Amino acid sequence: MKDCLFCQIIARTIPATIVYEDDSALAFEDVRPQAPVHVLVIPKRHVASVHELGCSDGQLLADLLLCCTRIAQQKGISDAGYRLVTNTGRNAGQTVFHLHFHVLGGRTMSWPPG
Ligand code: 5GP
Ligand code: ZN
Repeated sequence: MKDCLFCQIIARTIPATIVYEDDSALAFEDVRPQAPVHVLVIPKRHVASVHELGCSDGQLLADLLLCCTRIAQQKGISDAGYRLVTNTGRNAGQTVFHLHFHVLGGRTMSWPPG
């Protein structure tokens, strides 16, 4: 989608530090990291949020979650633990409307989230 920031990162129109890529997913460093490790995992196909996914998207969802666990392994945070977040819609604070999972780690996380 032309006006979508993350689609432009996929197209390499906007630069990003890409840490992983395959046929269905892209992972890159968040530009404003909220933890020592903060990577965004996105589908290459434009989907606005996880709420837009349907029954036929099960494989894509599995691919994205497995991409997240791969990143956690790659970044060395899997033993200590990490958090996966996908903000969905206005009340959750979603600011980029292209589905993304935040992979956050390298520090202790608090709960409940703000
Ligand atoms: P959201 O608020 O939608 O859950 O998360 C959007 C994330 O995208 C934020 O953590 C924000 O820092 C990140 N972000 C926004 N613009 C850019 C950008 O141009 N490049 C990168 N790498 N991350 C971005
Ligand atoms: Zn997009």
